[in-house]
Parts: sequence; C-alpha cells; structure tokens
Amino acid sequence: QVVVENAAKAPDAPESDVKISNRDRVIFPDSNVTKGDLADYYAAVAPILLPWVTHRPISLVRCPQGRAKHCFFQKHDAGSLGEHVKQVDIKEKDGSVEPYLWVDDIDGVLTCVQMGTIEFHGWGSRVEDVEKADRVVFDLDPDEGLDFERVKSAAADLKRHLADLGLTSFAMLSGGKGVHVVVPLVPQAEWPAVKSFADRFARALAQAEPDRFTANLKKIDRKGKIFIDYLRNQRGSTAVLPYVARARPGAPVAVPVGWTELRDIATPQLFSVRDADALIERSTSRALKGWGQAEQVLPDI
Ligand code: ATP
Ligand code: MN
Ligand code: MN
Repeated sequence: QVVVENAAKAPDAPESDVKISNRDRVIFPDSNVTKGDLADYYAAVAPILLPWVTHRPISLVRCPQGRAKHCFFQKHDAGSLGEHVKQVDIKEKDGSVEPYLWVDDIDGVLTCVQMGTIEFHGWGSRVEDVEKADRVVFDLDPDEGLDFERVKSAAADLKRHLADLGLTSFAMLSGGKGVHVVVPLVPQAEWPAVKSFADRFARALAQAEPDRFTANLKKIDRKGKIFIDYLRNQRGSTAVLPYVARARPGAPVAVPVGWTELRDIATPQLFSVRDADALIERSTSRALKGWGQAEQVLPDI
C-alpha cells in the first residue's frame, strides 16, 4: 500500500485484500513499470478514480504480457474475473442480452489489474440506467504530427461553443495524443438524441472551419486537422476514464485539468503512473474544483 503524504484534504486510499501475483513482472518495458507498480498506482489513486470508474459498464484493455505485447479489449467476462467484478445484463441490437462488466470498489479495479488490465474505458451512462447518458465526450484526435498547441486551442474553442449552448464542459488529457472535452449531463436524454446532438455539434464545427476540423472518421480527411470524434457518444461506445493508466510508452495516465491550467500544459502525457501522490494532491487544487460536475441537460438544437 502506498502511503500518501500531504493528503490532508484528500480521502485515504481504501484497503484491499485482492492479491496481486507476479508483482515484479515488467508491464511497461520502456519505463520499467511493473505489475506491482501499476496495482500500487490504482490503489493510491482510488479515492479520485473510483467516482469515475464505478457504476458504469466498462471495457478493459488487457495486456497480460505487458503493453508491448498483445493487448485486447474485453467487454465480457469469459469466467476469470471472479466475485469483485460485477455484471449487468444489457440488451444488444439483435435483441439478445449480454452481461457487461462493472466495478463498485477498489477490489473490482485491482482484480482487473491482477488479470492484466492496464486501461479502463467506460460507457457514458451508469448501470442503474444504461439508456440515459450522464456525459458527452468530444474526443479530439489530431492528425499525426499536429502540434499539441493546435489541440489545446481546438479544445478551448469547443468549450466556448458549448458554453454558447449553455453547456459547461471540462478538459481531460487523454494520456495519449489528444484531449477529451467532457460534458456532464443529468441522465435524461437517451442515446439516439445524444448521438444526434454530438454528431450535429461536431459537423457544424467542421463545416465552419474545414481547415482545422473534420468530423469524418476517415484518416484521409484528417490531413493537418483535428478529428472531432463524436462517435464516443453512441450506445455501447466507451471513452477512457479519468485517472486511468494508458498502455503506451512511459505509462501515462488520463488526467482531468482546469481550462486555465491547460493553456500552460505542453503534452497530453504530462502525468504517469509514477505520479500518484501528485495527482492526489492536485485533485483538491482550485483548478480542479468541481471538475466534471454540472447539473445540465442537452439543449434543443
Ligand atoms: P488519444 O488521445 O491518443 O486519441 P484516446 O483514448 O482518445 O487517446 P482513441 O483511439 O481516440 O484513443 O479512442 C477513443 C476511445 O475509443 C478510447 O478511449 C476507447 O474507449 C475507444 N476505443 C478505441 N479503440 C477501441 C477498440 N478497438 N474497441 C473498443 N473501443 C475502442
Ligand atoms: Mn482520442
Ligand atoms: Mn478517437
């Protein structure tokens, strides 16, 4: 268990008795981060991670042999995850019903880590009512080689346009190449309406500024631009959740940031799993006060 110093205002990491095997197995060969380090990271950030990761259907990115070897997305349990990882039955398009994974505590998270999970991705709705979205995410995907400054100004523009519609939004460094602009919602609108809103919003931006933005998934259309990936906002789609580690070189993590703070940040990989203490401390900073919280519904547009 990692002892967090200086965490006067942050809640303590909960105890867990999930046993992590092969703690010395190197999961990130580029930075010597082991399975034990990863488990310690998740245990340490549990107080700030769990509010985002619990109570929603999740997909796991599992890399049992480490991030440099074979990794796979897992939506369902093949029978190995045990009692701490819960399941919720969700109806598929074809009418059949499939059990989706969710967790409600640190034991669930660490069980997944024990099974080789690095990343946790979540639906934009909660297990209590999976049909009603509790957030919209605009995932800004820059073309290869595009400067991060361009991504930051794009994110700030999205924030402004959303504010024009009466919506408060928040920025998250993806830990990869981009920024996610997150719009919390009171769960009310169902997926078809949510997708339609996100689709129309992204297309309007791309139409207004075709040199900067595209809303077209095709890479060929992305030359020198930022793809506003609105497709995170359909039933069954997922986005990486706050404070989740990424299966990328250097073990970066997805991290909420304040809008003013973002202006001075030079990389979406600012923090790594080595920074648990700093992340806990930051979480009570003024810049992050109220991050991800807003009582709002989608406007009619
Ligand atoms: P980056 O900033 O590098 O783009 P990202 O997390 O936004 O990082 P994307 O490739 O843009 O990565 O993917 C956006 C989201 O789409 C992911 O966070 C994930 O939840 C989902 N996703 C991506 N690939 C898959 C896949 N193969 N199967 C299921 N979901 C996926
Ligand atoms: Mn992305
Ligand atoms: Mn994307």
